[in-house]
Amino acid sequence: MTVYLRHGVPLEGYLLTSQDHRNQEQSEQIGHWVAEQTAQWKAEEAADPQLKEARRITVQTLTVMASQKAPDRGLIRWRLRLYCDHIIEATRHHTIDNPVSAGGTATWCTYCGRDPVVIVAYEPICLEAKAAEPADTTVSTPQLRRRWLEAQTRPT
Ligand SMILES: [Zn+2]
Repeated sequence: MTVYLRHGVPLEGYLLTSQDHRNQEQSEQIGHWVAEQTAQWKAEEAADPQLKEARRITVQTLTVMASQKAPDRGLIRWRLRLYCDHIIEATRHHTIDNPVSAGGTATWCTYCGRDPVVIVAYEPICLEAKAAEPADTTVSTPQLRRRWLEAQTRPT
């Protein structure tokens, strides 16, 4: 059984710490690096149509593989206070004990649009959602192959 963690109280006032500022700065640096890489990849693809097609196929394949959405009954709802001082709700799989693990330290703010913005406080708000049995999320090889073939015939 997962014990869900809390960090601060999102609905109460919060003073940003020096660690919060460092985390936000690091998150923004990563965002800038990703934007630079994306621009570089687009330039490479503009100069090399075969590379562009190979990447398109790879992205479609990964999209198909990731298309298996976790059912709502396997999700926990969290209240998050963000670096920008807005409070949002988000979901995570019920097996994760806090919303910032597994690379989820930053998100985007639905109120001000800041992206990325780090999570500075969090608490679980919907524990009953975990009571359901985990769904069977396995996908057979023939199903994946069919999805992949469908994605290949789809126009870009
Ligand atoms: Zn915000």
